[in-house]
Amino acid sequence: MPESIKKRIAIFGSTGSIGTQALEVIGAHADLFEVEILTAQTNDKLLIEQALKFKPNAVVIGDERKYETVKKGLESTDIKVFAGENALDEVADFDTYDMMLAAIVGFAGLKPTLKAVEKGKAIALANKETLVVAGDIVMQLAVEKRVPIIPVDSEHSAIFQCLVGETRNKIESIILTASGGPFLGKKPNFLVNVKRDHALQHPNWKMGAKITIDSATLMNKGLEMIEAKWLFNLTPDQIEVVIHPQSIIHSMVQFQDGSIKAQLGLPDMKLPIQYALAFPHRISNNFPRADFKKIKSLTFEEPDIKTFRNLGLAMEALTKGGNLPCVMNAANEIAVYAFLKNRIGFLDMTDVIEKTMNKVSFVQKPSLEEYFESDGDARSYAADLIKL
Ligand code: NAD
Ligand code: MG
Repeated sequence: MPESIKKRIAIFGSTGSIGTQALEVIGAHADLFEVEILTAQTNDKLLIEQALKFKPNAVVIGDERKYETVKKGLESTDIKVFAGENALDEVADFDTYDMMLAAIVGFAGLKPTLKAVEKGKAIALANKETLVVAGDIVMQLAVEKRVPIIPVDSEHSAIFQCLVGETRNKIESIILTASGGPFLGKKPNFLVNVKRDHALQHPNWKMGAKITIDSATLMNKGLEMIEAKWLFNLTPDQIEVVIHPQSIIHSMVQFQDGSIKAQLGLPDMKLPIQYALAFPHRISNNFPRADFKKIKSLTFEEPDIKTFRNLGLAMEALTKGGNLPCVMNAANEIAVYAFLKNRIGFLDMTDVIEKTMNKVSFVQKPSLEEYFESDGDARSYAADLIKL
């Protein structure tokens, strides 16, 4: 990367797990990157702190009640302050950044990301829900606008890295690895009693609450299968999942000749974040290195989709397509938030998702508006089931 031109990064969801780690990466490479936009939903204190340190052109606080606090916190600067959901689209429409790091969690990330693609901005994509909900529309627009979508999700970053230099070669299949989460090997009689705090303890990764629960139910891997379908233009039968509890192999690609490429490393999201920000370059860092004498063994097993039924439901959504992944995603968001509020049990999440998937009308080739409608219908049906 030429040193004189810094890449200007817009971080949507800067106060989250991915957002804060991205700022660490940027802070360590101030010669290569600068921060243009920061956005947060509720954490005004951290947003102000980040803005004072990284001096972006603009910040957005989603929660409008916090506008005054953020404005006041930044009054000694000329940083522009915006508030509310629509402001996300407004700043995504700015000309002044080069790449959006899409690190908002859930469906809320879709609209600003689509806006950035429309503007022709490169996307470093952490927000997998964007592709789960409307992957066909997002990828089609990205092709039209010649916008690179570079995955941040570690599995997809692994596959992306394995595909460098292989553009003319056909993929036979991809193998997504899954840690199995904190309840690997457990059965329904155990899971029925699982509480929020236990489910929030992931063995290998420290992440936001929603994705941590998704990892415990294996829904995360289901979302990732759908994400992979759109990113790499695959059919459902080309996407395989294997449990790999050590999280050292981040995923693999098998080519037509049977040869398999894998990408390995210690589980640390800063690596795929850095790779996406600096792509096509690899840049140095001082992250801990893998030591195979300490790791000793890498093991693999089949996922138990009879127990972790969310993964089975996601496979059904992947195969059927249409608005079903969107509906599943919306029901899952409602179910996960209800579980995090101790309103429903661990296994109830699956029931809410399954019932919602059976209820909301199927649309084979939805428009963007129809995706939004399906999302809304699924949310209200799922919320009714839980009596939220
Ligand atoms: P998080 O909950 O830690 O952070 C979410 C960020 O989004 C915060 O900055 C928050 O302010 C913002 N946000 C939340 N709701 C919003 C809304 N309604 N409107 C606007 N902004 C909102 O989440 P995270 O763990 O950083 O995950 C972010 C995304 O990255 C998710 O889609 C997740 O699946 C994906 N991802 C995360 C990891 C990880 O290690 N954390 C790994 C792979 C993929
Ligand atoms: Mg992942």
